[in-house]
This record gives sequence, C-alpha cells and structure tokens, in this order.
Amino acid sequence: MIEFLQKLIQIESLSPRDEGCFDLIEDRLQKLSFDCKRINYLNVENLYATFGSKGKLFCFLGHTDVVPTGPIEKWSHPPFSGHIEGDLMYGRGTADMKGSIAAFLDSLDEFFLSNPDFNFRIAVLLTSNEEGDSSDGFIDKIVNDMIDVDEKIDLCLVGEPTSYLKIGDSVRIGRRGSLGGSLKVLGKQGHIAYPENVNNPIFSASDAIVELKNTVWDNGNAIFQPTSFQISNIHSGTGAKNVVPGELEMFFNFRYSTESSQETLIDEFEAILKKLNIEYEIDWKLSGLPYLTEKDNLKDVVVKSIEKITGYSPDLNAKGGTSDGRFIAKMGTEIVELGPLNETIHQIDEHIKISELWTLKNIYTDILKGLNKKLA
Ligand SMILES: [Zn+2]
Repeated sequence: MIEFLQKLIQIESLSPRDEGCFDLIEDRLQKLSFDCKRINYLNVENLYATFGSKGKLFCFLGHTDVVPTGPIEKWSHPPFSGHIEGDLMYGRGTADMKGSIAAFLDSLDEFFLSNPDFNFRIAVLLTSNEEGDSSDGFIDKIVNDMIDVDEKIDLCLVGEPTSYLKIGDSVRIGRRGSLGGSLKVLGKQGHIAYPENVNNPIFSASDAIVELKNTVWDNGNAIFQPTSFQISNIHSGTGAKNVVPGELEMFFNFRYSTESSQETLIDEFEAILKKLNIEYEIDWKLSGLPYLTEKDNLKDVVVKSIEKITGYSPDLNAKGGTSDGRFIAKMGTEIVELGPLNETIHQIDEHIKISELWTLKNIYTDILKGLNKKLA
C-alpha cells in the first residue's frame, strides 16, 4: 500500500490532469475482475469501475488530481517524491486524496480474499477534476446519466480528508449548500440637486441590505449550522459627484443548511425586495446542493467500524466546503465522507502518517465486511 501510494504521489497529476494514475489503479481493479471504463468528458479523464451484478450499489468516490505545490523550495522534501521520514510520507496528494485511494484498494484486496461471495455491488468512481472548476464536473454528468437510465448509487463513501487529530475522529454526513446571486437594483439616474427627479438605487439597496442582514433564514439543526448570508461585492456610481446613479450591482452568497432550500431562500430574498418596492434584476446560481444522510445503513456501519478499529467514536458533522458528494446526493444516496487528517491539505509539506493510513485501511476493510452483513 505504501509503495503504491508513493507511485501515485510521483505522478504530477495537477488538476485537471490524471497523468497516468488511473493506469495504476485500473491495473489493481482489473486483478479483482472489476469492469473498468474510462470516460473522457470535456477533455477530463475519469474512471468508473464496477463489480457484481446483484444487490445494492456501494461506491467509493474520489479524485486523483492535486492542487499546485506552491514554491517547491519551501518544501522539506520534493512534493512529488513521496519521501518517507520515520512515520511520515511527504507529498502533494498524500492526504488529499491519493492516500485514501491506496487504502481503499488494499481494503478491497483483503475483502475479496476473505469474502469470495458477497451480496452487494461495488463501484469505484474517480475523477481527475475535483480540485478545479466544478462546472466541468464529471461526477455531475455521470449522475445525470445514471438517473436517465434509472440507475442509482445506494451508498457512497467519499475518501476526502475529514479527520482532524486522529483517523476517523470526524466523519461528514452532510455538506452545506451554496447558492449565489448577482442582483441589479434599478433606480433613476439624475442630478443630485433634484431629489424629486431621481430614485437612488443605493438607498433602496441599503434598506434591503439591513433586512437581509437581520433575517434569520433558519436555525440550523443538530448537524448543520444556521444558514448564513454574505455579500461579497457591491458597486454603484457613475464616477461623477453630482449624479445619482441609475443602478447598483451586488454579488452575494448563501451557505445553507438542510432546513432551507434553494426555493425557500429565493422566495424569501425576493419577497424582501418586493416588500420594499425595489425594482431589480437578478441572476441566481446554485453551485452546490446541501445533503444530509439520514438513513442509517452506511452511517451505522462506518461508526461501528471506526469504534472497533480505533476505540473511539467519530463526530458526525457537516463541516467544510462543498465536495463531490453534493452531485451524488441528488440520487437520494446515503453518503458518508471519511478519510485522512486534513491538517496539511493544500499546504506546503502536505504529508500523511503511515501508521494512520494502515488504520484507515483497516477501517475501510471493516466497513466492507459490515456492509456485507448489513445488506444481507
Ligand atoms: Zn480532495
């Protein structure tokens, strides 16, 4: 597993390029008789491998691309060397997330050996464009294709680095949604000395901003923080000091919990503008659906495996930004994210503890065994 991870690290798979990681991974999966498909989408390579023909579909989701290294001279060891020092392996992608791919492949080997006959289907779905612009998202495309033919991933384990201090201390069972908008408040331009002849969009926007800032969109729940509203940009003015501008532009974003939806937020937002008699144009952009895994099949198995292997219980949460899990969620899939420590991801000197990667592999193996019992 460690040598395999080193080989993956030595491939400079800067997003959105795979650069041959899939060749190594496919080789492993073919030895287990997985049916491997390469799907190229918008010049991005992706790997979808499946095994089995009966039962629920369990999928391991991940990515082989990595973020840029930053100044190489600042690294203690070259970022694409996979250099090992004591219990640490250094390298871009060790934690995010080639480490969990290596661990999962080993756990598959173990599971296939000890369970020659099992009652669910397994898929491995890997993209090389997770870190880049998600609008090129292959995962979204493959999910839409699956929905079109009535296929469905029932359970999904995402190998993103969710752990904080110890492997498995934190597991994501949800992620917040992200809804952005660009608003144009329309007024009437005119001479600043003739207030009766103008309609100042800055004043209209100010009234709206106060209301938007004070609105409680929801109170969150046990897993999610309350929905937050933020403004990132605001612009108005013609440049002339004696002219009231005709319009104002504003960019804003909701990070929202599962207590709200795209529809409720849009309705409430626009109701505030209408109540204030504001004339406006608006463009909404949903960049990520929230998800919360409520069903217990995968969640229970993951918690039990972590407890069994490590002796402690994980914190179940919905922290962090968005992940590719958001694309899978629209199939009604049970999603759990569990991977290495996130302490050094995207940083100089990204590394992983080798002993902890073995622990992760043991947890993954136990999850596969647990699913076999749970889905019997
Ligand atoms: Zn990642």
